Amino acid sequence: MTEKKYQLDKGTLYLVATPIGNLEDITLRAIRTLQEADLVAAEDTRRTAALLNHLEIKNALTSYFQHNEKQKGEFLIEKLLEGQTVALVSDAGTPAISDPGEELVRMCIAHNIPVVPVPGATAAVSALIASGLPTGRFSFEGFLSVSKKSRKEHLEMLVGQPYTMIFYEAPHKLRRTLQDLYDVLGNRRIVLARELTKKFEEFMRVSLTEAISYYEMHEPKGEYVLLVEGQQEPLPKECELNNLSVLEHIKYYEEQGLSPKDAQKAVATDRHVSKREIYAAALEEKDRK
Ligand code: SAM
Repeated sequence: MTEKKYQLDKGTLYLVATPIGNLEDITLRAIRTLQEADLVAAEDTRRTAALLNHLEIKNALTSYFQHNEKQKGEFLIEKLLEGQTVALVSDAGTPAISDPGEELVRMCIAHNIPVVPVPGATAAVSALIASGLPTGRFSFEGFLSVSKKSRKEHLEMLVGQPYTMIFYEAPHKLRRTLQDLYDVLGNRRIVLARELTKKFEEFMRVSLTEAISYYEMHEPKGEYVLLVEGQQEPLPKECELNNLSVLEHIKYYEEQGLSPKDAQKAVATDRHVSKREIYAAALEEKDRK
């Protein structure tokens, strides 16, 4: 590509994605944009200073976070209208995704200031693509509200939704969220994607009841993305059976006269997962007992 193509336009807001853990997940374009911008607006200037330091970038930093969004937004708009280039970064991942940025984007559009995405890591998509749940259609639900009423209303809106749902959650709220998901949505497949791109990255692919029992015994640690399968339109019998734990579900079919192998196969069919997943889930459940 020509040099010209790489030159930054002035008076543009760049939304620059930064790593969600692994520092290698920064793009060449993000590095160049952070170098060339007149000003870097960061959610937490100390965190971004550490990233810039790691990238050996020296640039002017200013803060832009949830509680100064309005006043700082106006300041940034002034700079942009003067023709300056602003690179907006959040603490981790993609700005404006459960992070500040959305309001500034709207303000720029209202002032005819160009807004350019510089894509990169985002926890929701990283979790989705490795989850094993359907990726064709999905909904991003962000964080559930702390208010009991609002979270219940939010979840109730999702009951019949057939697409994979993606939630963000903090570890200290994980148990409550798992219980609320189960109470409103019933037992479903869930994938808990933990510490993505970091040393202890982990994907736990289980049912909601299994996740609840697991976290009764284990302390939630680290950052989580929760992916819940959409409504599967099961037969009425399946609905009831899928509320059982995997071992209970297998036992049900064994009591109906099926061999252990055929019982696992029937459970896999009911839950729309592979026999191998049922086998692994049964082993895990036995281990936890
Ligand atoms: N803007 C970010 C993005 O693009 O993903 C999201 C920021 S939001 C304030 C922080 C939440 O994202 C965390 O509570 C967690 O749910 C999720 N998250 C961020 N990094 C993560 C990681 N490395 N592993 C798992 N979840 C992560």
